[in-house]
Amino acid sequence: MARILTGIQSSGLPHLGNLLGAIQPAVELSKNPQNESFLFIADLHSLTTLKNGTERELYVRSIASTWLAFGFDTDKNVFWRQSRVQEHTELSWYLSCFTPFPMLANATSFKDKSEKLADVNAGLFTYPVLMAADILLYNANIIPVGKDQKQHLEMAKDIASRFNLLAGEDILVLPEPQIDEKMMTIPGIDGQKMSKSYNNYINIFLPENELKKVVKKIVSDSTPLEEPKDPDTDITFKIYSLLASETETETMRQNYLNGGYGYGHAKQALFEIILEKYAEPRRLYNYYMENNDELERILKTGEEKARIIARETIAKVRRVLGFGE
Ligand code: ATP
Ligand code: MG
Repeated sequence: MARILTGIQSSGLPHLGNLLGAIQPAVELSKNPQNESFLFIADLHSLTTLKNGTERELYVRSIASTWLAFGFDTDKNVFWRQSRVQEHTELSWYLSCFTPFPMLANATSFKDKSEKLADVNAGLFTYPVLMAADILLYNANIIPVGKDQKQHLEMAKDIASRFNLLAGEDILVLPEPQIDEKMMTIPGIDGQKMSKSYNNYINIFLPENELKKVVKKIVSDSTPLEEPKDPDTDITFKIYSLLASETETETMRQNYLNGGYGYGHAKQALFEIILEKYAEPRRLYNYYMENNDELERILKTGEEKARIIARETIAKVRRVLGFGE
């Protein structure tokens, strides 16, 4: 049985990039009876960028509701908040002492974030170590992620190998990234990687009028309506093509190439396809956001399950490091 693990930070509201790059593929994989899925809300990771507790609670609820809205079966699988299982932080410290400094210093996502964010803190720097702990704590085999996380996964694997080598025992299971090559990094409305922390995202759960406003804000060039446009450089087209069927995409491509079809038309088509494709998740999301007690009960049950497994790994690690069990 393969153990699949995915986490989403509670650093903002979940967005289309998270859905296409992580949530939907993870829920699909979790439906296979051969798989056991571990999905968690990385609220500790979110502290690297978000300091406000009230906001964090809202985002945690929102991300949890999203997993449920997309049909994640929490009876068959494991679903929890990272901060509620303290073994994550404990393992993270142990692993940090097995992590070469240059490995972290060379991480592209750290370089990227440290250029863009005002608050470049040590947590941001050691982020990949906590991520390695998240994975290794549960002996996860398969980690489906977007391309942006590939390097972090390679680090988790390296850290685990180093740990096993220096400890002289194969205690930690080496994870495998599973990257859907055709699932590229989804661009945000400004053309950069869609990201909670860049505030350039499309939140598909917004009320219709607000959703429309966001879609309208997608950056486009100033080619006049009647002239042909290049679909391959346009963000609206790119996002549309990820949601639409091949035929629908081809029709829009031809519209772009023919001219007489404006970016406004494309944005309207994108808006409509979001509403159509995500009608049921939108309904369920609102249900869970309104039924907080139910959400809390589901999470607490998941946390008990997660803790049992995490404690087994921690016991082995503590034993081999001479900290007792
Ligand atoms: P932050 O800005 O706080 O890092 P994020 O929007 O990048 O947030 P994460 O919580 O870091 O989201 O990532 C959760 C999952 O979503 C990861 O598996 C990641 O690969 C995937 N993901 C995030 N952004 C995108 C994107 N733009 N395209 C495809 N996948 C994405
Ligand atoms: Mg990210």
